[in-house]
Amino acid sequence: MDTSPFFNILFSLRQLSNRQLRSLSLHVQKRLEKDELNQAMETRTQRLDHCLFCNCPKIIRWGFSGDLQRYRCQKCGKTFNELTKTPFARLRAREKLLNYADCMVTGATLRAAAKTCEMALSTSFRWRHRLLTMPEVHKASQLGGIVEADETFFRESFKGKRRITSRKPRHHGRANKGEKIPLIPVLVLLDRYEQEADFVLENNTIDEIHPCMHKRLTKGSVLCTDGSLVYLAIAKEEAVLHKRILSDNPARTIEDGTFHIQTLNNYVSRLKGWIRRFHGVGTAYLSNYLAWWRFIAQHKAGKRQKWLDEALSF
Ligand SMILES: [Zn+2]
Repeated sequence: MDTSPFFNILFSLRQLSNRQLRSLSLHVQKRLEKDELNQAMETRTQRLDHCLFCNCPKIIRWGFSGDLQRYRCQKCGKTFNELTKTPFARLRAREKLLNYADCMVTGATLRAAAKTCEMALSTSFRWRHRLLTMPEVHKASQLGGIVEADETFFRESFKGKRRITSRKPRHHGRANKGEKIPLIPVLVLLDRYEQEADFVLENNTIDEIHPCMHKRLTKGSVLCTDGSLVYLAIAKEEAVLHKRILSDNPARTIEDGTFHIQTLNNYVSRLKGWIRRFHGVGTAYLSNYLAWWRFIAQHKAGKRQKWLDEALSF
């Protein structure tokens, strides 16, 4: 590689004013960001070996649309590019997506994300849900080893709904006089490999909980729960070992501390701490937020690349 242009640039930096340097730094930043998005798209292009509409493998290159390679299916005749059918499709200001992915990493509120990315609040809302499409699907389908299970509860909220007909509206989410805000149960399953699956429940009954756990617990795993009788029946049905940690056990662990539900309690308490920033989460979107937290917890490095890859993974 010829390195002389690089050294020339480096040398000429000395002649630039501070203002010029800042402007240059912005240019470099933009260029790097574009590369990052291109990289995520390239990975997808390499996988693109069939028609996105009819799955036919006979596709040919068909010019460009904007800076994207287009393809045409020889069977159904439809054209598409690597962004077709992804959350990125038809999004104009694509470079904003990188900034938005950053907002997902930091768990920015809708308003903060809208401000950072210079977009309307409604756009911010749409993008957030687009980026959460895949994480929501990707809850653990298999859990193994020691699997902890428990329910946790979130206050019912109609946030995001325009019209509330079933009850009197609440002021800033606070309960009306004499009103008891219903709690929405959420089942959380977590193994010690940090695989997690969560389910927003309606009634918190065995009929609802069992299907969530059915076939998710791999053979030979050990189920750890509190004293709830629901899990007793499920463990029997699923033929897995069951360790019940009863509330009268002061250490809340059994057999040398191996079996407990502290990992799950810890996960849930971090989740609740994180979710507090949103000042109440609409029940209709609760599973989105659970998925969001799951993604952050599983990708501790929190790289935005992960969000881009995830968004392009279907
Ligand atoms: Zn086709």
